[in-house]
Amino acid sequence: MNVKEAFNKHYIAVIGGSISGSEAAYLLAEKGFKVVVFDMNKLPYGKIEDGLPNWHINLRNRQISEIDAKLDHPNIRFVPKTKIGRDINFLDLINNWGFSAIILANGAWKDRKFPIPAIEKFKDKELIYQNSFINWFNHKHEHDYMGKNYFIKENTVIVGGGLASLDVVKIVMIELVKKQLFLKKGIDIDLFTLEKQGIKKFLEEHAISFEELDLKKATLVYRRTAKDMPLKLPKDDSEESIKAAKLVSEKLLNKYAEKYVFNFIPLSIPVDFREKEDKLTSVIFQKVIVENGKIKPKENSYFELKTAILISSIGSIPEQLEGLEYEHSSLKMRKNANYQVVGFENVFAVGNAVTGRGNIQESKQHGKQITTLIIDEHLTEDALEKWLTNMNNEIKSEVNNNLNAIVGEISKRHVQPKSVIEGILDKINQIHKKIGYTNYRDWIKKNTPDRLEDILKNKSNCKCI
Ligand SMILES: Cc1cc2nc3c(=O)[nH]c(=O)nc-3n(C[C@H](O)[C@H](O)[C@H](O)COP(=O)(O)OP(=O)(O)OC[C@H]3O[C@@H](n4cnc5c(N)ncnc54)[C@H](O)[C@@H]3O)c2cc1C
Repeated sequence: MNVKEAFNKHYIAVIGGSISGSEAAYLLAEKGFKVVVFDMNKLPYGKIEDGLPNWHINLRNRQISEIDAKLDHPNIRFVPKTKIGRDINFLDLINNWGFSAIILANGAWKDRKFPIPAIEKFKDKELIYQNSFINWFNHKHEHDYMGKNYFIKENTVIVGGGLASLDVVKIVMIELVKKQLFLKKGIDIDLFTLEKQGIKKFLEEHAISFEELDLKKATLVYRRTAKDMPLKLPKDDSEESIKAAKLVSEKLLNKYAEKYVFNFIPLSIPVDFREKEDKLTSVIFQKVIVENGKIKPKENSYFELKTAILISSIGSIPEQLEGLEYEHSSLKMRKNANYQVVGFENVFAVGNAVTGRGNIQESKQHGKQITTLIIDEHLTEDALEKWLTNMNNEIKSEVNNNLNAIVGEISKRHVQPKSVIEGILDKINQIHKKIGYTNYRDWIKKNTPDRLEDILKNKSNCKCI
């Protein structure tokens, strides 16, 4: 049997179909392997669909067509709406299905828990986590949206400090201002225009003062200072460059807060809360100082922020799968082979599933390679595209680098007997039948949600496309 024939007989499972999963699946498929890609969602686009706010229309569309081009490969079978750990147990997949290898490309989707455990009782009421918040924002307009519903209220407090928390505070203010413009002024403005112009400029152009909207600003609370935000990365490690970058970060945050009209409180951590009639009414913060990079709470230095909604945006971590080992909320990888998962010969991981990082705040180290990350640029579609494309190219090239080693490992494994392969195909066919899946392109066409820009297209005031 030649190499290609042998590859052809190996079935590999990839968990997650987004940037890293589609890349790994495509590279394997091109080498002749048969690949089964499981994704928990209907669509395989991961953070591109559910993490990137939906005003980035072109960027999203370009990224998803790249994923489509990869997954629509004759050697790849896509299995949507199938969450490993919920619909299929991971140990069952590895021990009983008969795959030669499993590649984890499931990203980082779990919100890091808010540091006050007792506050969890308000979850999805007055306490909202970032991942489900952005998911709601991106999809709430869809005619068949079945997810959680959130009602943004004034006086929202957001705890965070990475780029995602800036997206969150921006969403909150855009939604609130949009609503008040309609109620107070009869102006029906779409979010795309408000996002592009910025709230301040839009109000100025319409000779409306913020006070006229009768609205309290949202507040972003960060445990460090604006200078510590990852908005401008230093050119190099010199003290001078670091200092210069910090000053730019501070300036950019101030400009951003002005543009989208929100308050920013630095050097504060949440420590307690108050409630009334089973509703969260305020969060107690403690002031901190930063000494040698470490945060130290200041004694007797507390303040209270009244809030109707608290949004936690303090980072995403990989969701843990039963049967795998984790260390500091990341998958435990072999020391000498950082693509290979500890405890298994044939389980590998790529992308954010390995870095354990799902947002900027969490991945400063990783992000160091991105030299052009400036929030000012992040505000423009072109610059964000450059940044995200760089980031995704990095992920892809890492997948590429690791794949030869992974292929080497897989090649050492025995080809499964025909009956086992038939068993895999049978199980997949059963899932496909249950969900009505026939082929990749038809499935994507059928399941691509109503896009907000299409819904608004006929409105004369929408400059969304
Ligand atoms: C706003 C924004 C901010 C970003 N910030 C950062 C950053 O700071 N650092 C960084 O490294 N990257 C960051 N990125 C980049 C982004 O995370 C990558 O571009 C890319 O999405 C990561 O690809 P991935 O395939 O590893 O993970 P994801 O895009 O998260 O894809 C994982 C896929 O696995 C699926 N999945 C998850 N769990 C399961 C399961 N149990 N069973 C089946 N399927 C599952 C999901 O549905 C998803 O499709 C950011 C992206 C955006 C849009």
